Amino acid sequence: MAEYSAFSLLKNALTGNRDWKPAWRKPDPKPSYDVIVVGGGGHGLSTAYYLAKEHGITNVAVLEKGWLGSGNVGRNTTIVRSNYLYPQSIRFYEHSMRLWENLSHDLNYNVMFSQRGILNLAHTPAQFDDYARRGNAMRHGGGDAELLDPDQIARLYPGLDVSASARFPVVGGLLQPKAGTARHDAVAWGYARGADRRGVDIIENCEVTGFLRDGDRITGVTTSRGEIRAAKVAVAVAGSTGHVMKLAGIDKLPIESHLLQAFVSESLKPILPGVITWGGGHLYVSQSDKGGLVFGGDLDGYNSYAQRGNLPLVEEVMSELLAMFPAFARVRLLRSWGGVMDMSMDGSPIITTGPLPGMYLNCGWCYGGFKATPASGWCFAHTIARDEPHEINAPFTLDRFHRGILIDEKGQGSTPKLH
Ligand SMILES: Cc1cc2nc3c(=O)[nH]c(=O)nc-3n(C[C@H](O)[C@H](O)[C@H](O)COP(=O)(O)OP(=O)(O)OC[C@H]3O[C@@H](n4cnc5c(N)ncnc54)[C@H](O)[C@@H]3O)c2cc1C
Repeated sequence: MAEYSAFSLLKNALTGNRDWKPAWRKPDPKPSYDVIVVGGGGHGLSTAYYLAKEHGITNVAVLEKGWLGSGNVGRNTTIVRSNYLYPQSIRFYEHSMRLWENLSHDLNYNVMFSQRGILNLAHTPAQFDDYARRGNAMRHGGGDAELLDPDQIARLYPGLDVSASARFPVVGGLLQPKAGTARHDAVAWGYARGADRRGVDIIENCEVTGFLRDGDRITGVTTSRGEIRAAKVAVAVAGSTGHVMKLAGIDKLPIESHLLQAFVSESLKPILPGVITWGGGHLYVSQSDKGGLVFGGDLDGYNSYAQRGNLPLVEEVMSELLAMFPAFARVRLLRSWGGVMDMSMDGSPIITTGPLPGMYLNCGWCYGGFKATPASGWCFAHTIARDEPHEINAPFTLDRFHRGILIDEKGQGSTPKLH
C-alpha cells in the first residue's frame, strides 16, 4: 500500500490522482481466524492494529455491523487529555498521550493531533482547591498541569468574562497544556489502514448475531455473513456492550447505555485557542480547524440504544455555553447528533480477559473513550495475545467490581449517569 508523503501527493497531483488505492481492502470473511474483534470503532481497530504490530498476530478479522466510523469514534467532540486524579488512571491515560504524540508518524496517517491545551474553569474556592489537588496528582504521575489565576485566564481567552460581576465568577483554572484535539474520523481510518496493511481483514456490514460455543468456551461467532470460527473472540462494541454480551448469555454487567449529544456551530474566525470547560455545570467547547465551535455537556439522563438525543438537554447545553461566553448568543448552530455511551458503575473502563473462556471484553468508556483509543487498543491487544492484562490495565479488569476495588474518579458511587 502506498506511503502517504509529500512526494506521493505531488506525484498523484501531476498524474491526475488516478493512483490512490483504497485505504483498506473489502475482503469476504474467511471460515476462521486466530482472533475476531467484534466492533470496528476506534478501540476495535486499534486493538487489531496493535495485535499485528506489537504481537505479530495478523490472522485477525474486525467485524463491524455498519461502516467504519458509524459509532462513537465518529461522533465525539475529539477531546484528548490525561488530567486524572488516581494513579491507575494517570498511568493509563499518560500512556495513551504518549501514543497520541507519535500516532500520525506511526500510522503514516495525519490524525491532526493538536496539543492546544485544556482549561478547566473553577468558580468557587473549593473547586479551585479540588483542581489544585488533581493538578498535584497529575504532576506526581509525570503529567503536566498548571494552576491559572483569572488574569492569566483572561489573557488566554479574551472572550471570557472573568470580572467579579460575571454571572458565574471565575476563581481560577487548571490547565493541561499537552491536552488537545484530534480528527476523529482520521483516527478510525488511520488505524484501519495500518491494520489492513499488516494483513488484518476489516469486514464492514457484518453484524455479529450470536456466539458459537463449546460448553462454556467461545469458539466463534454467527454473523449476518455466516459463521466464523476463532480461537479468541474480543468484544469492543462500546454502547452496544449490553446487547452483544447478552448474545453470549452474559446478562449482568456493570454497564448501562446512555445518550450523549454533540453540537457544532457555523464557522467563526479563531476565537478559542484550546479546549475549555465550564465548572458551573458540565460544558466543554473547542474550535475545530474549520472554525466551528464543537461542544457538548451532560448525558440525556435515561437508558437508550437510540443514536439521537432529546431537546431538554439541547436547551441546557446552550444555556451553559452562553453562561460562559455570552457573545456566542448570535452564533448559529449548524448540526447536532447523539451517540450511545457505555457508562460503567465507577466511571472507569474495563479491559479484561473473560468473562467466558475464549472471550475478551473492552468497554465502560463512558464519554471519555476517544482519548483512550491508542492505549485501549494497545492494552487490549496485550491482554488478548498474552491471556493476561498488562500492568497498565491490570487495575481495569472486570473482577474489580467483585473485589470492591473501584476506580471512582468523581467519587459519585455506582450512579453511571453521573460519571
Ligand atoms: C457526543 C459524544 C461526544 C464525545 N466526546 C468525547 C471526547 O471529547 N473525548 C473522548 O475521549 N471521548 C468522547 N466520547 C466518547 C468516545 O467517543 C467513546 O468512548 C469511544 O469512541 C468508544 O469506543 P469506540 O470508538 O470503539 O466506539 P464505537 O465507535 O461506537 O465502536 C463500536 C462499534 O461496534 C459496532 N457494533 C455494535 N454492535 C455490533 C455487532 N453486533 N456486530 C458488529 N459490530 C457491532 C458499532 O457499529 C460500532 O461501530 C464522546 C462520545 C459521544 C457520543
